[in-house]
Amino acid sequence: MPCTLSAEIFSVDRGLACRIGYQWHKHRQYKSGNINDMDITIIVGQGLAGSVLAWRMHWAGYEVHIIDSDDRITASKIAAGLITPVTGRRITKSVDFDALWKEAEDFYTQVEIETGLQLLERSPTERYFISSEEEHYFIQERQCELGDDVHLITDKENKPQGFQIKKAARLNVTQFLSHTRRYFSSRRQYHRVNLNLDRDIRVTPDAVELVNPEISGNRLIFCTGYQSINNPWFPGIPDAPVRGEMLCLEMPTRNERIVRHQGFWLAPSLSGEHAEREYILGATYDRQNLIPNTTDAGRDELLKGLRIITSEPATLKGHFSAVRAGTKDRQPVVRIHHQYGRLAIINGLGSKGSLLAPTASKRLMEMFSLPSTKADSTQAKPRSLTKLAHSIARRAIKPGDLAIDATAGNGHDTVFLARCTQSGGRVLAIDRQQEAIQATQAKLEAEGIQHVETLEGDHGIILNHLKSELTGVRVIMFNLGYLPGGDKTQTTQAESTIVAIKAGLTLLAQEGVMTVIAYRGHPGGQEEATAVDDMAKNITRKDIRVDVIPGTTDNGESPILYVFRR
Ligand code: SAM
Repeated sequence: MPCTLSAEIFSVDRGLACRIGYQWHKHRQYKSGNINDMDITIIVGQGLAGSVLAWRMHWAGYEVHIIDSDDRITASKIAAGLITPVTGRRITKSVDFDALWKEAEDFYTQVEIETGLQLLERSPTERYFISSEEEHYFIQERQCELGDDVHLITDKENKPQGFQIKKAARLNVTQFLSHTRRYFSSRRQYHRVNLNLDRDIRVTPDAVELVNPEISGNRLIFCTGYQSINNPWFPGIPDAPVRGEMLCLEMPTRNERIVRHQGFWLAPSLSGEHAEREYILGATYDRQNLIPNTTDAGRDELLKGLRIITSEPATLKGHFSAVRAGTKDRQPVVRIHHQYGRLAIINGLGSKGSLLAPTASKRLMEMFSLPSTKADSTQAKPRSLTKLAHSIARRAIKPGDLAIDATAGNGHDTVFLARCTQSGGRVLAIDRQQEAIQATQAKLEAEGIQHVETLEGDHGIILNHLKSELTGVRVIMFNLGYLPGGDKTQTTQAESTIVAIKAGLTLLAQEGVMTVIAYRGHPGGQEEATAVDDMAKNITRKDIRVDVIPGTTDNGESPILYVFRR
């Protein structure tokens, strides 16, 4: 078999092209492109980068096939999902953090809307000084430059102890990955296979072909994490993988949701049966030994570090080790093969994977000139903002809590709140229309729910009245517009809606949440949504944060969810 290899790919593997029975033609550039109506992308590796890319391409209307060996422990599977603007020994703000965060927030919110999962937990991070030198360095060199991004933490004598980073978040990576696997499996687009990158991939002028499973695609993207060190197709990646060990600890007396850094970091567990009592402590840093085994030395180092953070009792529940991809210059790699334009790689996202993956995947699609919406793909389907509002509310609420449905309507949200608060809790359901109050009562009766009080009248007036009687409301829900199945002219109105939202904010408990879904498709809806938007933008209370989540992208009429968090 003739085998003409161009000089550039000698470094790949001279024998490779011959072995796979394929002729490399010296002057031919194999560009990616649409070869037929079915545009297929093969993603090798379902860690964070692969999962994010899979969703992006799926939403854009491309068929995606994920190949993954489904190892029990990988760097992504045990990642704590920490997202923070200020990192490293030099305590610097990540370049482009604000743009990266916006991309990440938009992306994960979209997944939350699609799936009903709650994946992003926005909560501050605290970093305590590990030495007086670090304290000195921070105060002298960094504090001023970081400005409002950080707040100094002091002790009773006003001595600096560390600083709080307000704009931090965590991604529930475990849940994101397992849901992604389930979702694509159910579509038969997830293949649990240990691919041999030497043997099983074949690039032809028209396609990329896999031998097992037999899939022919327009392009193939490697998202294999640190295993890219063995990738014969991309030998030039400046890999610098790092092995890290982590511990899972049961800490029954600790009651802290904030991630604390002090040499190591201690973060509340986000998943698992006993998540509320468990904490993850990480991570060691080893560039020499890249075999992902747990070690006694790693465990001891972590436990020693734990005692600097806290003296609270801790029982060891788990010990993990994984190797994560990194690059020598700490820059992520997003690259299309210089000659075989159907192959690409995303790699080296390192410890910032949750933050970087959404931007990296977007860049790659742009590099392939793939529009984020395929011309022939059907219009983006409307997101279920009610589902998302429920999932956000569910996170904030506990049995025994007090909650308000400010627009009871047919009672769906009221029943939802009643189920969350359970019989020991209390729910107030308000609606201006008698028809709605009756519908809600009928639903409650059918469900055997007894801890809901229905109040007929205007929510602005009622909530203002309740100000003198109530505080500590955990969740307030508004679902604006008209009563489904009722009189469509009886809609909520901008003026009283704003009065009611403002009154509601004064009733919210610490860490309470108010969700407001504004519809823009009916007469008066656009004005009402604009009024809510203006109000949200102009909130002066420092303890209230607002997230604005559109129902579909680029659609001036789709509903919008406003989430006010205290
Ligand atoms: N949450 C409801 C459910 O789960 O079925 C749907 C609510 S529906 C979209 C809007 C409701 O707001 C209607 O039932 C309407 O009567 C009510 N409404 C309109 N203006 C109001 C006001 N000023 N005060 C209280 N309720 C109002």
